Amino acid sequence: MIFKKKKDEPEPEEEPEPAALKKEKVKTCDVSGCSEPSVRTVSGEKARGAGLSVSKNLRKVHLCKKHYKEYKKATKKDRELERLGW
Ligand SMILES: [Zn+2]
Repeated sequence: MIFKKKKDEPEPEEEPEPAALKKEKVKTCDVSGCSEPSVRTVSGEKARGAGLSVSKNLRKVHLCKKHYKEYKKATKKDRELERLGW
């Protein structure tokens, strides 16, 4: 079988996306039920440890301002408890 050589077309992989499809990828909060824009990324384990409901599949979770605050609060509390435990 003979394949015709393609004319020098631009590589399809490099195809620029139409502007309409080029959505700004704004990451949103990964806490279930929340769709605020994320401001921080923390490890999924820590986020779950802080009591935030995030998917178990996530190794990193994006948190919005509000949930990051909660996360910080929770981790702070942890530390305090640790201190008290001594
Ligand atoms: Zn959130």
